Formats: sequence, structure tokens, C-alpha cells
Amino acid sequence: VSPPPNAFAASPLDRAAHLRRDAQWLAAALRAPQTRLVAIGAAKPLMREGGVLWLTPDQAPPGSSTVFLGVDHAGAAVFAVAAREAPEGGEFTELRAAAATLSSDDIAILGCAKSLLEWHGRHPFCAACGVATASAEAGWKRVCPACAAEHFPRVDPVVIMLASRGEYCLLGRQARFAPRVYSALAGYVEPGESAEEACARELMEEAGVVATRIRYHSTQPWPFPSSLMIGLLAEVESEALTIDYTELEDARWFSRAETRTILEGRHESVRCPPPLAIAHHLIAAWAFS
Ligand SMILES: [Zn+2]
Repeated sequence: VSPPPNAFAASPLDRAAHLRRDAQWLAAALRAPQTRLVAIGAAKPLMREGGVLWLTPDQAPPGSSTVFLGVDHAGAAVFAVAAREAPEGGEFTELRAAAATLSSDDIAILGCAKSLLEWHGRHPFCAACGVATASAEAGWKRVCPACAAEHFPRVDPVVIMLASRGEYCLLGRQARFAPRVYSALAGYVEPGESAEEACARELMEEAGVVATRIRYHSTQPWPFPSSLMIGLLAEVESEALTIDYTELEDARWFSRAETRTILEGRHESVRCPPPLAIAHHLIAAWAFS
């Protein structure tokens, strides 16, 4: 049985990658009245009260760059557009906060739009020769006019793992977390490393525990700005913790019963991330197994 899709995954759009090179089709789509655009300003999607403020092509900010996200179930094209000012009736809203009022379909579309437009915003120059690059293939790559290097939107793999030992699981908190929040440990996968190796390394580095069995749970695109969270369940053999306090403010073992009260919001002093985050589902998969 496969787990339900994580938030930001399972976009309802057909990416229709074959249309990214079809300049004629794209130009027509950017004039079609049924086409929808989501505007992103300073990494925040344009919202109205209760949902996304979708724009029609004639409402898009003139001269701004667009990225083709795909085609919806009704056959309409969906684009993302970079914007500076919110039109009347709209407001740029931080995506995590906005997600509370959005459908899972819109969360997935907005996450993709945010990641792509942030990548364009942060990568205006060629990493090989320093010349200004241009968007190509409807926003799915950038090309250097001087050295012809092609640059593709980056996705950064991160392992996030719930370590457990018998009836206890390991949760930690970073100083930047909201008060009282404890979560699964996580870290970036490094070059030359498998996800399983990154998981074992991070558990040893951050908590001093030895992983003996690592199982895959699910993955989640996490658009802050463009991670792929690789969710793992790790059994560890050691009980003693050696916490790296440069990475973590605290880490502790929690019993299965206590972990359930955390997930249900009934714990007196500890909270965990909300269902928007894969961490919540990793913890639940263990706590209710
Ligand atoms: Zn170049």
C-alpha cells in the first residue's frame, strides 16, 4: 500500500514537456482567455482571500518573464509569472501560511511555480563564464549566449529520517524552529553519497547514533527554495546520544505513546511539524505502525 502523496507533490497539471519548445503553441497559449497565470513576488504567491488570485494573460504584468507549468484537466495552459507589485485585491503571501487555505492541487502548482521562479531570480548569470543568461524552453532551462552552457533548475536532495530504537523514536529541534517544535533529523545529501549513506552519516554526526536498518518511506518536493525531501525510517542500535549542538538545540527519545500525543497536539510541552511537512507523516508512520 503506497502512502498518500505528500503536500507539494501530485500536481494536477500535465507538464506537457513536448510543448516547451513549441514557440507557436506557447505564444497562442499566452493569448488564450482560458489560460491561467499565478504571479510570484519575492518568492510569495499572489493570493486573494480564500485562495489563489489567478490572472488571465491580459492581467499579467507587461514584459515580465513567464514559465510554462503545464496543462490542466480542462486543457487550459497554466503559467507562472514574476511580479513586483500585487494588483488590487491581491496580496503576496508566504506559501506555508497560504497553504492552510489552499487545495492540495493548488499547493502543488504554487510550489512548482515558486521553486522555478526563485531559481530564475537567483541564476541570472552563467556559472561557467559570468555572462547574463536567457531563459529557454518556456523557463525550464537557461542558456548562455557566450559559451553556450545550459543551466537547468536545481533540485537539492535532502534526507529526512525518523530514527527509532524499539519503542522509542528520536526527535530533535533546531534553534530556528518555532517554539516547542521537535522533528525528524535531516541533512543534505553530499556528492558521492547515496541517500542511505547520507542518512547514516547525519544520524552519527548530529546525534551519535549508529543506523542498522534504513527503509524508504516517501519523498516530497519542498519549495523552500527547491529541495527534494527523501523520507526514511531508520532503526538505530545505540541509546546514548552525542548531540552536535552546532546543528541541534536538543534531541531526545520519545516513547511511542508520547509520540502519538505529540502528533495529536495533546502533548504538554512538545509539538511536531504540521501535515504539510513530510516529517509529520514519517513520525505518524512509525507512531501508528
Ligand atoms: Zn557562459
